[in-house]
Amino acid sequence: MNYVSCKSSELPFAENYKIKMVQRIYRSTRQQRQKWVEEAHYNLFNLRSDQVFIDLLTDSGTGSMSDTQWAAMMIGDESYAGSDSYHVLHQVVSNIFGFDYVLPTHQGRAAENVLFSVLVKSGDFVPGNSFFDTTRGHIEYRNGKAVDCTISEAFNTTIEHPFKGNIDLKKLETVMSMYSKKHIPMIIVTITCNTLGGQPVSMENLREVKKVAEKYGVRVIYDSCRFAENAYFIKTREDGYRDVTIREIVREMFSYADGMTMSGKKDGLVNIGGFIALREKSLFDECSYFIIMFEGFTTYGGMSGRDMNAMAVGLEEVTTFEYLENRIKQVAFLGKKLQDYGIPLQLPIGGHAVYIDAKRFLPNVPKEEYVAQTLGVELYVEAGVRGVEVGTLMADRDPETKENRYPEVEFLRLAVPRRVYTNDHMHYVVIALKNIFHRRREIIHGFSIVKEAPILRHFTIQLEKISR
Ligand SMILES: *Cc1c(COP(=O)(O)O)cnc(C)c1O
Repeated sequence: MNYVSCKSSELPFAENYKIKMVQRIYRSTRQQRQKWVEEAHYNLFNLRSDQVFIDLLTDSGTGSMSDTQWAAMMIGDESYAGSDSYHVLHQVVSNIFGFDYVLPTHQGRAAENVLFSVLVKSGDFVPGNSFFDTTRGHIEYRNGKAVDCTISEAFNTTIEHPFKGNIDLKKLETVMSMYSKKHIPMIIVTITCNTLGGQPVSMENLREVKKVAEKYGVRVIYDSCRFAENAYFIKTREDGYRDVTIREIVREMFSYADGMTMSGKKDGLVNIGGFIALREKSLFDECSYFIIMFEGFTTYGGMSGRDMNAMAVGLEEVTTFEYLENRIKQVAFLGKKLQDYGIPLQLPIGGHAVYIDAKRFLPNVPKEEYVAQTLGVELYVEAGVRGVEVGTLMADRDPETKENRYPEVEFLRLAVPRRVYTNDHMHYVVIALKNIFHRRREIIHGFSIVKEAPILRHFTIQLEKISR
């Protein structure tokens, strides 16, 4: 054997944690899965988790906490008002993001609900980059319009742009100059862009968006769920940031914002929780009324003291380069192996998930039959792996015409929970997809809708197999 040793500085990458507790998961048979998915009306949200072997439905609230977070839970303060845990969380949020005003909420969409209750009125326009479904939902529910200003490169999955989450400044200017400032309550920048494939926004773009906002006197709010993953990409991809720490990068990113909504279930490294953080006292006061109405008293929102403690520690952990390197390298491992087999993906590979380009994967399924959903059901039946459709079902119908909105790209998203699965699990997923890729031309039919809700329909939709 020809063995050449390497320098100790060149030893391969390995995670900087070990596993202290495990949970058993079950492998089912193909026949079982076929029956279960039919009973679930071909909606993967309707499956029981014990019917799933590897669950890549979402990275939201599905992560493992560290021993330090569990320890912090034991000393949570459950006081109704003025909880010590709130002050701990407040301190950490102010240190990391530079905002003085913090309101805990039970999760990200609750933060949106509260903030948008103050800011969004009927007839308003909210420009931004590829809105998340609940963000768009909360704007449209108030008869506002979410205007997508993402750069067009983002919609071509084969272009390897390092910051596909960027806002096209020309598109933004057009929206800003078209409507009166009275009808533009804010610009929303999503970091990273979930809907597009976990794609980051560059520091330069954040800076430029703030300039446009200042020119028109409009606020910038970050939908910040994966802010730390975004910072990692700035550090590793953008000129001038290689030697800057994650904490410093985050601080600069948020210096170009006036506030943030946050889902703690992502980069808060907790199973439930979220918050709003703001620079303006007056906006904080207005939000406080809605927090009390929808969530709870202002010093706990929708959270228990122990959960606020765990999120405070999570925010400290997530803003370290070591943590982020473990995280992003596992997602890259999954993506790279799929790429090696020629499976079409959104490139470059994102921070929290791999996004399979379903229309290129299944060229023979018509778009009217929900291509990404078809691939998702195939993968579940093949291997017990659950992904999620980010395509026509998630895009909902146009609120005016009631027609399906066909997005430019149909994705099957494989979201990787934080610190949960090993690379062997990732390998298993790759081989399952490779099997389907081999017989992709035989897959020619998808589904039709039996029953759907008027908004956010993908969560509860019922489907029927089309077979001719
Ligand atoms: C998850 C998510 C939200 C909503 O947060 P929840 O905690 O699920 O309510 C909002 N925006 C983005 C980009 C998200 O990924």
